[in-house]
Order: sequence, then C-alpha cells, then structure tokens
Amino acid sequence: MLLAGDIGGTKTLLGLFEATTARPRAISVHSFTTLDYPALSAIVNEFIRTGPVEHAAIDRACFGVAGPVISGTATLTNVPWKVEAGALADEFRLQRVDLLNDLQAMAYGVTVLTESEVHILQQGKAVPDGNIGLIAAGTGLGVAMLHWVDGQFIPAASEGGHADFAARNEREIELLRWLVANNGRADVENVLSGRGILNLHHVAHAEPCLAVTDLDHPDAAAAITAAALERRCRGCVETLDMFVDAYGAEAGNLALRTVATAGVYVGGGIAPKILPALEGGTFLDAFRSKEPLADFVATIPVAVILNPEAGLVGASVHANAARRRTF
Ligand SMILES: [Zn+2]
Repeated sequence: MLLAGDIGGTKTLLGLFEATTARPRAISVHSFTTLDYPALSAIVNEFIRTGPVEHAAIDRACFGVAGPVISGTATLTNVPWKVEAGALADEFRLQRVDLLNDLQAMAYGVTVLTESEVHILQQGKAVPDGNIGLIAAGTGLGVAMLHWVDGQFIPAASEGGHADFAARNEREIELLRWLVANNGRADVENVLSGRGILNLHHVAHAEPCLAVTDLDHPDAAAAITAAALERRCRGCVETLDMFVDAYGAEAGNLALRTVATAGVYVGGGIAPKILPALEGGTFLDAFRSKEPLADFVATIPVAVILNPEAGLVGASVHANAARRRTF
C-alpha cells in the first residue's frame, strides 16, 4: 500500500493507494487545512489513525511539497514547516519516503492523465517523444518540465515561479513599476497566483471596486475572478484580462524554454475556475506571440488540467515507480 500526499500552502491532500498498474488505485483520499497543523507528521498521523487500512500495510510514501527539496529535506515556501523524508520514514516505520517539489509530483501525474481529466485549449500537433512543460498558478506559481529521455518522461523540478516577470507592453510596465515599488522585485509569482490577482486588482482599479471590498479575505482572489466572469466590475474584468494575458505569455515562455513539443499543461487551482476566460482568445494570443517562433508555438498542444488531485495522483505514481524502479 502506498501513502501519497500533496502539501500545498492552503490545502493538504493525503491518499492511500493500491499499487496496481502505472496509475495506482485510490482507496481513500482526505483533505486537510495545512496551517491547522504544526507539522506534516501531525496530518499523516491523523490520516493513518482514522483511515481504513492497518498502519502496517503501508510500506512506502511520497509527498509533493510546495517548495524546493534538497537532499530529502523540504522548506516550504508559504508554510512555516520543514519536512524531512528520513524523519518521516523513521516515525511511521516506512521502507521508503520520497519528497518531491509539488509541481514535480504533478508532472508525474501528467504522465497518466486521461482525456476526461484535461481541457484542450490548443489542439496543436503533439510530438510523442518531445518534452512537456507544466505551469500551475494557485496559492503560488509552480513550474516543472518533463524531459523525454530513453523512452520515458523524466519530471524535473523548477523554481521558475520565482523567476522575473517579463513585462511586454505599457500596461504590464505599469504593473512592473508598482510591483518593484511595493515588493522590491517583480517575480512572476507576484502576477500569476492568488496574491498576484490581488496585485493586478490594485493596478487595474483607477475607480473603487464595485464587487469586492474585503481584499484581506482568504477568498478575495476567487471573488475578483468571479466578479470579472460575471462582468460586475470593469476593474475586475481588467484584472482578469491582465492575469489571463500574462498567464498565456508565461506559458509560451515555458514552451520555448522547454521546447515542449509534446505539450504545455496548465495546472493549479485557478485555471479550472476561469476556463471561459482562458478560452476567450487572450491566453492563446499571448502564448503564440513569440516571433520569430510564433508558428512553432502554434503547433504545441495546450491543455488545462481539470483533476484537482493531479498532484496527489502524481505522488502515488512516483511512490509506485520507486517500488518498480521504472522511473
Ligand atoms: Zn473590481
């Protein structure tokens, strides 16, 4: 039996999986509010104690965590915890515990997603032995790459969400100035994330916002995008348009950097909530505006991941693959 986890800045998913085929079968999945717990081990302990399977039946675990993983230790970016693979293996008497960057875990999930779990934005023409790029805006911005090596995809982690925001026009230069003045620098996560939406909201509203008053509320970013989709406030509409435009441009940058001829996948919690806006043309226009390589990026398939458990599934795929030693 495999224990898999997707530890995000807001929500933590844990699941028990039966190691069957390349895609392990979920037995039990539970969601936890990350910051309600002092450490990952507290969540794992509660999940195992209340779960349907004897503790002794679990032999391996893999957790995707929102932050860089170095030598089996993860320092989470938006959570005040440190996670150590060795300590978890000892505490829960597991044969093996692996830690992955959360986007690297989601990248393992990409290798087993079915058609019904994605929504195609650009059909393109996939090159089966090409590379894949993965970009995911949610609490933060995650980026990962899957390189095709010796007949299989090898997911690689990245901290590309903290790379610099590349402004392309007057509207984005104004945003860049505001971000640098308020944050010291403009990393792309400060544009493409829940916090990014709040930043864009500030810049896009010359007049008071007609839809969202409490910008400190945890759901403020979702309220802004909902108001924009319902066209209840001109500034919120502008906010979402800037977000979608920048998201398409950064996805296109990833396509170029990865030579992602097997596809670019858009994961994370925000994309499925704003699908009508992503389909409106702005995203793909920005994605394709890459002269002299505009024709090249127009051939790259682009798909939104609809399954909110893609990262958890990916962690289970990795735990299973570690057992079978195929990755
Ligand atoms: Zn507004």
